[in-house]
This record gives sequence, structure tokens and C-alpha cells, in this order.
Amino acid sequence: MPIIRVALPVPIPQLFDYTAEDALESDVGRCVRVPFGRGEKSGLIVGLPDAAEVDAARLKPVLHIQREVPPLPDDWLALVGFVARYYHAPLGEVVALALPPGLRRADGVSADDTDPLLEVAPAGRQVMADARRDSKALALLRECEEAGVSPLRRSVIRALPSGAAVGDAFRRGWLQLTVGNVPRHHATGRPELTDEQATVIDQVLNAAPGFRPWLLQGVTGSGKTEVYLRLAEAMLAAGKQVLMLVPEIALTPQLEHRVAQRFPAANVISLHSALAEGARSRGFVQALSGHADIVLGTRLSVFAPLPRLGIILVDEEHDASYKQQEGVRYSARDVAVWRARQRGLPVVLGSATPSLETWQHARAERYGLLSLSRRAVASSLPKVRGVDTRRLKLDEGLSPALQAAIGERLERGEQSLVFLNRRGYAPVLSCPACGWISRCPHCSANLVVHLADRRLRCHHCGCDGPIPHACPSCGNQDIQPFGRGTQRIEARLIELFPQARVLRVDRDAARTRAQWEALLDTIAAGEADILVGTQMMAKGHDFPKLTLVGVIGADASLHAADFRAPERLFQQLMQVGGRAGRGALPGEVVIQTEYPGHPLFQHLARHDFDAFARMALDERKVASFPPFSYQAMLRADAPVLKDAVEFLQHARRLGEASAAAGLRLFDPVPMRLTRLARRERAQLLVEADERGLLQGFLLQWMKLLYAQRTSRELRWQIDVDPLDV
Ligand code: ADP
Ligand code: ZN
Ligand code: ZN
Repeated sequence: MPIIRVALPVPIPQLFDYTAEDALESDVGRCVRVPFGRGEKSGLIVGLPDAAEVDAARLKPVLHIQREVPPLPDDWLALVGFVARYYHAPLGEVVALALPPGLRRADGVSADDTDPLLEVAPAGRQVMADARRDSKALALLRECEEAGVSPLRRSVIRALPSGAAVGDAFRRGWLQLTVGNVPRHHATGRPELTDEQATVIDQVLNAAPGFRPWLLQGVTGSGKTEVYLRLAEAMLAAGKQVLMLVPEIALTPQLEHRVAQRFPAANVISLHSALAEGARSRGFVQALSGHADIVLGTRLSVFAPLPRLGIILVDEEHDASYKQQEGVRYSARDVAVWRARQRGLPVVLGSATPSLETWQHARAERYGLLSLSRRAVASSLPKVRGVDTRRLKLDEGLSPALQAAIGERLERGEQSLVFLNRRGYAPVLSCPACGWISRCPHCSANLVVHLADRRLRCHHCGCDGPIPHACPSCGNQDIQPFGRGTQRIEARLIELFPQARVLRVDRDAARTRAQWEALLDTIAAGEADILVGTQMMAKGHDFPKLTLVGVIGADASLHAADFRAPERLFQQLMQVGGRAGRGALPGEVVIQTEYPGHPLFQHLARHDFDAFARMALDERKVASFPPFSYQAMLRADAPVLKDAVEFLQHARRLGEASAAAGLRLFDPVPMRLTRLARRERAQLLVEADERGLLQGFLLQWMKLLYAQRTSRELRWQIDVDPLDV
């Protein structure tokens, strides 16, 4: 009796064997339903071993092997295998993440449920020529002709004004399935390329075939999207598939629309977690069967199986949402680069403000550099002005200068955005009189304020002490944590500018995609004068009437404990500043700060990302933070903090036995947001000089940790290349 080995979504790194009478080698990569404990589970067949790891007599038979869908190919199994290994996650959990739930449950998705190509049939042409009477189906045929390209995807025809008649036209024989099934990918409505765009496209297309990572560094508005579209066009023309990753679901509809318009005959699939289950399964199967031409989606679409894949495009590659922050903590950007290497393909990472990791790769010439230094349509980059708030009395955080600037925009009928930097940065103690900052005496990190037990802690090395009552440097008694609640700004703006329409744009105001789109429409239609927004506003939108961006709370990031905070601040300010003055009107960015001379703001004023990156990397090098070291974070949580900390201390002792030179295990630290959902959390940082050293250590350490007996109440996870430390 054949034995099959199955990856199941369970939180331990183990595979499970079953018997299956009719199993063949070709079933590897197929979904399967099996008995598990007292119930059933769905998983993936990863092998047909000759012998079971347990007593063969105890193996149970499978319930069902899903054979309607083609099996997932070897390169896909290698992809999930890599993610499981690199992020030290159970393979079954990676599979569960990567496969649409409907598919994994093996509840029947048809492989040929695709989006067929239709064209106007000879009978249809005849009717159009004769056209004595009018009908909806006839109107549809005319619209198809006007759309100019034939064949068209059924989904495209459906979207035409008379699209509802597609079934009718098909039944009458006026529309027919295209024979040959070779889509002609005419791109429509494309602009003339700028010289810079043409150059970078040539660079990618004329490079030697094979794996090649590229950084596409282009200022906001330089036309990176046009570059992606042209690269996609070249791939489609060569019969290849395109994978395009975007950071936010909220950004997909606009892009989806642009891509579908540009390539009317292409089968464009969008994949993200907000899709209905059936749609996600169908999209995945179309990718797998090679019917999808372009797959567009958020981080999980990096797991789309694409047999004809030609290129991977990662838009806004610096965006933190590419990193999954729960469960399997993978970085879709990094996995995309691995995927391109595996398949021997180019991968283009695009951004106006690349992550320092990627920028460093480009500087070291491990990645090719593609630059777009000018905006595509003639408009200048915004003017950046710092407002020194040290001696000012702020009104709910708003300086007189910012209020005046908003007033001017109101008079001219333009829009303003008040941008609040209120990420959950850990607050650091500072002295407004002398500029003293609570620094760790043992390492170069900043100490974090834990108000609950009134202590200052280092999240890097774990040392801690009491919160001082006065500034240790100048004796000033008025020392306070940076960063404060700024929810009242909206209310104050309404009082200050009663004639203005004030609109708040944050996660609370835009909980659903529909709400978000409605807000965007309101702004684009000019039906709001002052916007109050958080980081959601920083990304990829064009509002022609927006000419002023005021930034509040920037200093909190300047001195945050998280060493990535300045990088995020610079990225965010450059992105949000890029929102101002995209149209014909020039833009201005006003930054309120107590540190107007800080080099970060100086580089920003000159729009000089490279100068900022050089400075930030120099600082990281001195402190040996990534990318000059490699990190992993072990996190634990339990109803009582003591249990979480004790587990981490135990884990640390276990790890120290096998820690080689060049690898450092730090003390466990309670997290600042210690209590979350009635559980208390703590973390332990591991740092290594080399990636291989870290990986080798984690492999041994995880084995030891999985072998520990812990209380049922305690949970732990490992996070490789953590973003929040
Ligand atoms: P980025 O993604 O680099 O910020 P976009 O791709 O959004 O920039 O392009 C900015 C604007 O410039 C868009 O309105 C786009 O339609 C326009 N654009 C891009 N390339 C060209 C071009 N070659 N000719 C004319 N307009 C262009
Ligand atoms: Zn320290
Ligand atoms: Zn002081």
C-alpha cells in the first residue's frame, strides 16, 4: 500500500504519513483531506516515502485526494520549503498560508474555470451589417468593435456598458470562443516614454538572461508605474507571465484598472486576502494553469504558482506591509528576490525611498541600479520648510505658521493635509531644555519609557533603570516622553477654520475598502479642504489640488528606540511630501520640529535620499545594526509576564550552549505594549555578524525549543529579520 507524506497546518515542524491505495508519484503537490485526531484536516502531499516514520500498521488511510486541479509543481514546493526553512516555520503552516483556503480544503475548484477569449463571430458581423432592428446583444457587438481589439476576455466584455448581454450574444452565435487561444496583447493608450524611462526599460530588457535583481529608484511622480507597464508589455509579447506586488489592498483597484485598460486582451488576476474565497481559488488556479497573464496582488500573491513567469515587479519595495507580522513572519519582498533567483528571472524593486537594505545592495552592485531623477510630467518637487517649535506655543499641536499656511490654501481654494506621525513608536525620554536623550549606557540604543512600572528599558540589550525625576544633564524637571495623542487636532481645525470642510483619513475612518474608496473620491472631487491623515495618506495617490502638507510629531521618530524609525520617517515624509503639488500647482511641505537643523530634515529639503541613506547607514554600521548584522526575535506571551520572561531566560540558556563567536543572545525584555488581549509579552533578541551563522544557530535552537515542555498557557514565536525591534 503506497504511503503519502502530508504537510498539515499544525504548529509543530512535523510531517504526517497516511496510506492511499491509488496514490501515484504524480500526486505529489496535490491537496488532500486526512483524518487527524478526532476530526479531519486538509493539507498538501509533499512526498511518497518508501517507508513510514512510524509503525506502518498504525497509519490511517486518506479521505480524499483533490485531482481536479493540476498538482502544484516542484518549483512551488521548493518555494514553500524555502520559506519554512528560512523563517523556521512549520511547512504545513506555510502551505496553509500560501494556498487559498478553498483549494486546500479540496472542495472542488475546476481547473478550466478560466476567463476565455471571445471574438465577434462571422454571424455577428452579418447581423451588424444588416442591422434592421436594435437589441442589447447587438449593442454589445458594436461596443466590442469600438473597444478596438479582438479577441477580448469575457471579463472585459462583461464590463462594457451592454456587457450583461454577453450570454445572449454567445447563445445566438454572434460571439465565439477564439480558436488557437493566442491572445494578441495590443497595449492601448500608452504615453511617449521620457528618456530616463526608455533608458531603464532598455537596461532591464537588454540585460543578459537569468536572475538579475534591480533597484528602480525614482522620485515621486517619475513614472515608475509606466516602467512596470512597459516591462509587463514586453513579457506578455514574449508569451510570459508577470507577477506584480503592491503593498496595500487599498492601492490595488486603481492599478488593476490601469493594467486592465492597458492590456485589454490580457487575463489580469488580482490576489489578496480581502477577496471572496471562490475568487481567490479561481485566480490561483488560473495562475497555476498558465491562463493568467498578469497576477497583481499584495504580499501573499508572491506564492502564486506561475509556470510561464517572466518577471517580478515589487512596487514600493520599502513598505513595511510586505512583512507579515503574525503567524509565518515572511517578507514578501525578500521571498520575491529568492523566487526570481530560483526561476532565473529579473526582479525589479521600485521605490522613491528604498529600504536601506536594498539601497545598500545596489550600492555594493549586487543589485543593478535604475534611476529616474525627474518627474514625468513637468512639475517641480515640493518646497520643504522647517518650523522651529522650541519657543512657540502650539495650539493642539498646530503652530501659527502652519495655521497661516492652511489659511492661505483655503483662500486659494486648494487642499491641505495635516499629517500626523503617530506610529506606535516606543517613547524615549528627552529634555526640551538641553536636548538630552535617554541613551543606553551599554549599547547605542535609546532607552524606552515603560510608564506602567516607571522604568526606562533598553529593548536591545535588556538593561533597565528607574525613570529620573530631572534631566541628568541640566537638572531641568520638565522632562517628558516624546509622542502624544493628537486625536484632537481634527476638532481644533474645525474650530479654527469654521468655513472649511475638514476630513479625517485614518484607519478608523476607512475601515473597509468601500469607505476608503469613498474617501478618496471625496478628496479627488475637491469636496474637502483640510485633510487630517496618518500614514495611510502617504501612499501612492494623486490629488491635483493638494498643495500643502503639514507634518506634526516628526520628532518622535527622530529619537525613537527603534533603530529603523528615522528611515521610516524619511520615507514617510518624502512620500507624503510627494503628494503635494502633483498637478500644475506647486507644493509645499511644512515640518514642525524642535530640531530644524537635524541632518535628516536638511537632506529632505534637498530631496536627497542618497545623502540620507549614506548617513543612516553610517550610523547603523557604528552600532552594528542591520544590514550590518542579522537579527531574529524570539517572542513569548502568557497570562503572567513572569512566565513569558522565564521561558525566554530558559531559551537563552539553551541557546548559549551552542552560540558560536559572532552570535549574541541578549536579555529578555518585557514589551512596552506588555499587555495585549489579556496576555503579557516579552522578547529576546538574537544578533549575528553573518546570515549563515544566524541560520545555523536558529536551526539547532528551534529543535531544542520545540522539544521543551511548556505550560499550555505559554506561546512563543520566532521572527527572522524582524522589522519591529
Ligand atoms: P511614480 O509611481 O513614480 O510616483 P507615476 O507612475 O504615478 O509615478 O507617474 C506620475 C504621473 O506621470 C502619472 O500621472 C503618469 O500618468 C504620468 N506619466 C508617467 N510616465 C509618463 C510619460 N512617459 N509621459 C507622460 N506622462 C507620464
Ligand atoms: Zn542597551
Ligand atoms: Zn536637560
